Parts: sequence; structure tokens; C-alpha cells
Amino acid sequence: MTTELEQQIAAAQEAVTKQGDTVRSLKASAKEGKAEKSEVDAAIQKLAELKLTLESKQKEFEKATGKVSSQSKEALRAALAGVLERRMFYIPSFKIYGSVAGFYDYGPPGCAIKQNMTQVWRTHFVLEENMLEVECPAVTPEVVLKASGHVDRFTDFMVTDVVTGECFRADHLLEGHLEALLEDKKNPVSPEKAKEIRDLLAGVGELKADTMEAALTEYDVRAPGTGNGISPPFAFNLMFKTSIGPKGDMVGYLRPETAQGIFVNFRDLLYYNGGKLPFAAAQIGNSYRNEISPRAGLLRVREFTQAEIEHFVNGDDKRHPKFSLVADLRPLLYSRELQMGEEKKAQPMSLGEAVSRGIIANETLAYFIGRTWLFFCKIGVNPARMRFRQHLQHEMAHYATDCWDGEVETTYGWVECVGLADRSAYDLKAHSAMSKIDLTAFEKFPEPRMEEVVKVVPNNKELGAVFKKDQKAVKEALEALDSSAAMDVKAKLEAGQTATVSNCDGQTFEIKAGMVEIKKVTEKVTGKTYTPSVIEPSFGIGRIMYCMFEHCYYTREGDETRAVMGFKPVVAPTKATVFPLVQKPALNDLAAKLSRELTAAGLSNLIDTTGNTIGKRYARTDEIGVPFAVTVDFQSVEGDGSVTLRERDSMTQVRVPASEVAGVVRDLVDDRTTWEAVSSKYPAQKASADEE
Ligand code: AMP
Repeated sequence: MTTELEQQIAAAQEAVTKQGDTVRSLKASAKEGKAEKSEVDAAIQKLAELKLTLESKQKEFEKATGKVSSQSKEALRAALAGVLERRMFYIPSFKIYGSVAGFYDYGPPGCAIKQNMTQVWRTHFVLEENMLEVECPAVTPEVVLKASGHVDRFTDFMVTDVVTGECFRADHLLEGHLEALLEDKKNPVSPEKAKEIRDLLAGVGELKADTMEAALTEYDVRAPGTGNGISPPFAFNLMFKTSIGPKGDMVGYLRPETAQGIFVNFRDLLYYNGGKLPFAAAQIGNSYRNEISPRAGLLRVREFTQAEIEHFVNGDDKRHPKFSLVADLRPLLYSRELQMGEEKKAQPMSLGEAVSRGIIANETLAYFIGRTWLFFCKIGVNPARMRFRQHLQHEMAHYATDCWDGEVETTYGWVECVGLADRSAYDLKAHSAMSKIDLTAFEKFPEPRMEEVVKVVPNNKELGAVFKKDQKAVKEALEALDSSAAMDVKAKLEAGQTATVSNCDGQTFEIKAGMVEIKKVTEKVTGKTYTPSVIEPSFGIGRIMYCMFEHCYYTREGDETRAVMGFKPVVAPTKATVFPLVQKPALNDLAAKLSRELTAAGLSNLIDTTGNTIGKRYARTDEIGVPFAVTVDFQSVEGDGSVTLRERDSMTQVRVPASEVAGVVRDLVDDRTTWEAVSSKYPAQKASADEE
């Protein structure tokens, strides 16, 4: 049924294009006196009808699939970009100097939305979980990012056009090439080849230099635009390097993520929290990545706002006390198994089931997936077009236990907006090793108890003889083993085998019998010292904003030129407009008074005394997504003192006493009431013909 619809959309699109050409050539002929005006008018009329047919087919497709048809993707993106730029949601930075790719300025509605969205994020996460919020500098000394691994490993593979030298991200080129092969209707690939390509596509992100080079060669990927050959892929570090201080001898970087600021403060935060775990810390701030090919507006930029959480927890117990509150939510989950399966499609599944079946590694990670899903619903992302995709095993860092990306479907495809990762104790161990500061937590038992504990006693002499300069690293790796890993090593050594241990830098060492003694002893213990594990949800605010823009954008039924940004009131940049119906002092005075009352209630509002028709005024405010409009008319000043209150999406109106209007709008914005409830409480007001 959907393929049939897609074919109909393609046919309708073709008809519109042809008719557009006809109109253009008729207009040119009319100018030369070779065609009648009536002919041009008739052709324009026909074009309008064909456009309506196309639009209705596209809507039918969207209704049937919840997706935007590929034919209308470009058109939707262009129309939305027009509104976003015209209304100054965001614009390229440094525009009068020709702009620099990957940098954007937010204009007034963009700033307001970003502010509102981060405030919702704060309330939804920081307030709800009593998180400890911090704010750390963006300029970061090298040692911090050396410890975190960013100096050595925060890279993307780059290739260059061998003739022009232009740079490209290798994975993007390969993806684009493979997708084009799959979509090529003229030279279709065989079903076996298509499966091979789809499997390769699913794992492009994890290719290493050699496998990436092999794939680029096998598929004969060339430089876009020129068709020239490309260089072998090489690693490019994405951090902006700088120097700190006047002598310029201290290397620093602009932080590529806000998370490190939290890790380096762990000891103080734990103390602040009374030494108790679990707890979470959060930071909202700008991060910087020198992306090889910034693209797609806000989706891939070089400076962006992140909102990150580090939830510190005992690695032996990742249950979450509030998990039951999200266990019944059924977001779309795209597990490893589904990604490697035939259909490659996410399925709805309750988070409770996903944890009990071991699909999501633990309750805390699943809890944050659930809270993230609720956050997206709250800000107006369509939940049917959002999924959580699990990282494939080899996609994850060696230390990570489980990772899921919160992805949103847009005209650019599925976009990763949130990364949710169980990073084990890696980060704190890495900073502890580099800084030589103890970053462990101590869990005191209510009563001391006799316990069997596993003791790991490295044999320094033997380690020194075998590992020489690495002796210390091996010793640390052995001492960092938890009980069960230590018992595994013991079992292997006793069976005459060797065992491999690794440290937090990813170095591995082969251990033989005699290098370490591992034994169980019973002793009185008062508590337990451990390096906490961390569960990290990491949000990119700009990406989420763009996805929300796409999901909120629509045009009024039958009029594709009337764009509406259907923002949820809580994120809308302006909550209400106030219109005097006509320019009369009494009406203007009451409008000004109501505007002041809305402001006093903390509601951003605009007063419009342009004297334009009401319909025109609504059209302007629809484009910046104002959810409510208050109109002051003669009845307000001469009659019962009521004003009209109109809701943007339904375009319905009610009459509300002027003295109550600010309170009603406040309740609507705060979700304390609904438009349905307001409509049943107050009398309806019919819209005048001029209004819509
Ligand atoms: P990552 O640390 O790469 O997992 O990124 C965490 C989040 O930051 C992602 O889910 C995105 O929302 C956002 N993000 C990462 N890179 C960029 C970028 N270049 N432009 C905009 N947002 C980004």
C-alpha cells in the first residue's frame, strides 16, 4: 500500500514539475504577445490543483507511515529552512564576512527556545533526581584530555581529493555511496549484494583504518563533485588546540564534551553529597569539535551546547529505586539483534521487559532511556519517530558495558541526539591513575561483618623481571581487578593457562603463574571501597532543537504557504500575543494592561498594534509558533469585560474574563490544564471570516 502511494506521489510530483514548466513557458510567450493571459491563468490554476493533489498524497503517506515521503523531504526541508531563516531562529555566524562553516548564531526565537528547552531539561532531570549541577571552563589543560583518551583517540577518519586536496569524512563518503547504490533504480544491486551493503552500512561507524580503506577501495568511492580519486583514510583529531597563559607553554584544548569537568570534580562532589552514592552530577555548556565536514545546519556544527549527566553508582548494584516509574513505557528499541536481523526495524518494547530479558544491561541505564523518552515527548518530538539504537558490540569502547543512542527521524534520516552509555568505572580510574588522586567511594556497612574477600597480591620481583618499565602498570591492572575477575585469573593460572589483564589505557598484559597470588581470606570488614561506575546520558541541545523544528512544522490545511510551528507551549519562544481588534484607545489600553499581566505571570508575550487584519497577524505569529492569542474587542471594553483566547493548532476560540486570562495561559503553558478543559469551561467564540 505504501509503495503504491509512493508511486502515486512520484507521478503527482512529475505532473507538478511539468505543469510548472508549462506555466513558465506560457508566461514567457505571453510577454512576447504569443499567448493569451487567460491561457496563463488557466495553466496557473491547473498547477495549483496539481499541487493540492501532491500535497494530499503526501499527507496520506505521512498518515499511513508516520514518515515523510522521500519526494517531499527536500521540499519540507527547504520550506522549513525558509521560515527558520526568515524568522531568525538561527543564522550562519559571521554572515557579513562570508560565514564560517559549522557556526550558527541563534536569533530571538532561537535563543528563547534554547533557553526554554534547557530549562525543561533542568527541571526534568536535575530537579527530579536532585542532581548536582556544575559549570566548568571550556578551556581545558592537556593533561585532563590526555587522561580521558581524547588527545590520543578523539579522531575521525579523513580522506582528501587527490587532485584538489578537499577534505571529507571517510565514513560519510562511504555511507553516501552505499545508500546511493541501494537506491539506484536504474542499476539495481542483487538481493545478496543489497544485504551485504546493508550490513556494511550498519557498521560503518566502527570500521578501523584498514577495513575502511578496504571498503572504500572495494566500492570505488570517489570524491564528491569532482569524481577524483581519494587518499587512504587517516585519523584527524577533532579538538581545537590552544595555549594557556602569556608564555604559550601550556597546551590546552577547547573541551570536546562537558563530561570531563564532572569527572575531575568527583572527589569534591562526593564529599558535597555526604560521601553517599549513588548520585548524579550534570553540566550544561558549550563543547567544541573541529568537525571535518560540518553539515545539515544545527545537526553537525563546531560549537554546540551539550547537557550531560554522570550518574555514579556502585558497579555491583545498578538497580534504580525509581525504575518502576518507567518500566511500563514502550519506546521503540532497536537492539543489536534487530539491527543484524533481516528487517532492520525498531520495535516497541516495555523497558521492564527489555531489562528482564537482558536487552538493556541494567535498570539505571533503562531508567535514563525512559526519562529521555519522556523528555522528548514533553518538548514536542513525535515519539513514533524516535528510537533507541543499541551500539553493536564492536562499536562500543572496550570498557563500556552497554550503549544506546536516542535517535530522531528527520528528513536527513535518523539523527543521534542523545548518547546513553554505561561506561563502567573507566573514567574515574583513568583520572585517578593520571592525577594520582584517590577517586574511590567507600560504602560503610551498617554493622561490621566477617566476610570472605579476595586478596590480590602481585609478586613485584617477578613482575619487574618480566615487564620491566611496565611493572607498575601491570601491578595497577592486577590490583584493579574486581573479585570475580580476580577469581577468573586465579582459575586460569591454576589450570596452567595464562590470563590477560588490561589497564584503563587499554594496554593488555599476559599474566603467568607465579606473578600474582590470589586468595580468599575471611576477615572483619566495615565497608567496601570501590571505584564507582558511571552511566552517562549526553544530550546535544542544538540537534534536538532542529529535530523538534522538523516535527513541529506544518502548513495550514489547503494553504501550503501558511507555515505553522506547532511548538508545545512550554518551549514556544513567545507564549501569547495580544491584539486589540481595532486601533481604539480603550482597546489599546486594555491590551497593554493584559500584556503587563502576562509579563508579570512570567509569560513572554507580544502586543501587536500594527492594524493588520487579524488573519495576517495570526499568520505571522504562527510562523514563530505562538500557541495562544488574546484579542481585545468592543465586548471587552463595553460589554462583559471578556476577551477572546485562541489556540493555535485547533484555531478555536473561547471568551475568558480579562482578569482571568493570564492565569489561564499560565496553567496551559505549565500543563496544569488542557485546551479541551478550557474549551469546556468557557463559552466558545466563533472566528470571524477575516480571521482564518
Ligand atoms: P557524543 O559525545 O559524540 O556521543 O555526543 C553527544 C551528543 O552531542 C550527541 O548525541 C549529539 O546530540 C551532540 N553532538 C555531538 N557532536 C555534535 C556536533 N558536531 N554538532 C551538534 N551536536 C553534536
